[in-house]
Amino acid sequence: MKYTPVIGLEIHAELITQSKIFCGCENTFGRESNTTTCPVCLGMPGALPVINKRAVELAIAAGLLCGCDIAHISMWDRKNYFYPDLAKAYQISQLYAPLCVGGGLRIDKRFIRLNRIHLEEDAGKLTHAHGTSHIDYNRAGVPLIEIVTEPDITHADEAVAFAEQVRQLLVHGGICDGKMQQGSLRVDANISLMPEGSTTLGTRAEIKNINSFRFLKAAILFEMERQAKILDKGGRVAQETRRYDEQSGETFSMRSKENAHDYRYFPDPDILPLFVTNEDIERIKNALPESPIARRERYVEIFGLSSKNADALLAERRIADFFDDTVKQGANPQAACNIIKGELMRVLNESKRDDIPITPADMAKALRMAADKQLAQEGLRAAVSYMFFNNCDIDTAVKANNLIVREDTSLVSSVISEVIAQQGDIVARYKKGEEKLIGFLVGQCMKKLKGKALPQTVDSLLKRRLKIIEPV
Ligand code: ADP
Ligand code: MG
Ligand code: ZN
Repeated sequence: MKYTPVIGLEIHAELITQSKIFCGCENTFGRESNTTTCPVCLGMPGALPVINKRAVELAIAAGLLCGCDIAHISMWDRKNYFYPDLAKAYQISQLYAPLCVGGGLRIDKRFIRLNRIHLEEDAGKLTHAHGTSHIDYNRAGVPLIEIVTEPDITHADEAVAFAEQVRQLLVHGGICDGKMQQGSLRVDANISLMPEGSTTLGTRAEIKNINSFRFLKAAILFEMERQAKILDKGGRVAQETRRYDEQSGETFSMRSKENAHDYRYFPDPDILPLFVTNEDIERIKNALPESPIARRERYVEIFGLSSKNADALLAERRIADFFDDTVKQGANPQAACNIIKGELMRVLNESKRDDIPITPADMAKALRMAADKQLAQEGLRAAVSYMFFNNCDIDTAVKANNLIVREDTSLVSSVISEVIAQQGDIVARYKKGEEKLIGFLVGQCMKKLKGKALPQTVDSLLKRRLKIIEPV
């Protein structure tokens, strides 16, 4: 039989705050285990939670970016379960009255509705190795939002596109760092099948904690096939929680699915409800940066970039900001995009630096010099990399490397002589009519000139020397 898949996502995103959600412990990743903890996040008797205002603001910002309504009053509930990663044996979450309600995102031509975005605390982290288990409570109490969709997603690629869009919104909003490999963003995928043409939802399986977009797609595709086989045989899909195994590419049952009442949710008596005023919402809205969706549109429609280039710039907020600032300084958008996507990204990756130690004004000036043919393309790249590693301005970089093209024809001539002497065979073949070899010879000269001449100059001088000058 043919089936229609029905997919709903629950996306957990850790918030970029200084401290945890209910205590003053540092919110950082990668510290020595159990060093950023206190009686509150360890669940010691008598310790009381105090809400982190910044976490609430970031959750509201996420809600605004996803078109949600922000509740003026929301409440905290205890979700009770025992597991070693949860020292209190309950997680403080929001079930009955979440902070953000409704909303949704357009993905291609379809609108995927959100059910809610609520705030909660992260649990500790368990690692199992060599027959022992380790608990790290550094993550316990890290502020988390859970973004829950309605079951509106109809295929694996759409689920990935949705999750990618959410990630981009959160990263650009300064809400979550989006580092899936570090667990800052984790996706649970709920999947069920219904016979084609039917409108009654089938029984779903929930695949927990998927930490890459590739695995999200693979897990959904595997699950669709597994459920179809069961249904084809006349069987029933069990409502359960499953885990995706990255090695085998299969999903495995973890436990039968629990329902809300299994968690004995009840309002947390230790914390007051959350009150949010219209002024709060207005203030947070005004502080929001331009959304990456509007930004992509601007890059494509106004700057004329391809959408692939636009997405490359938008992959990181700092890159997109630097691009915008460079264009504001008068750079041509396409030229700015090329050098940023190319040399700048290369040196950023090589150095693993977070900041960009070049000013947009210097970048714009470098691009202007290239446009005016004062700098060759190779000289431009050299200047950018020199500015990056030496923290200097464009004039210093150009001077230090002698990059300005001064049409020093005597230098070019001597390089041409060298190359002709070294490449006798190629020169002979060229003279016999293999004209495309000129490109190779120009390349050899450019390599020796290290950006100190323009390829056009070398090309014409070389051709003249080889006595084949195109008639003007
Ligand atoms: P829980 O909190 O127990 O996981 P929810 O009702 O909050 O359950 O739903 C969680 C997610 O599962 C939501 O994203 C929702 O859209 C999705 N979902 C609910 N029913 C189905 C279904 N039959 N098939 C696929 N997804 C579903
Ligand atoms: Mg769930
Ligand atoms: Zn703490």
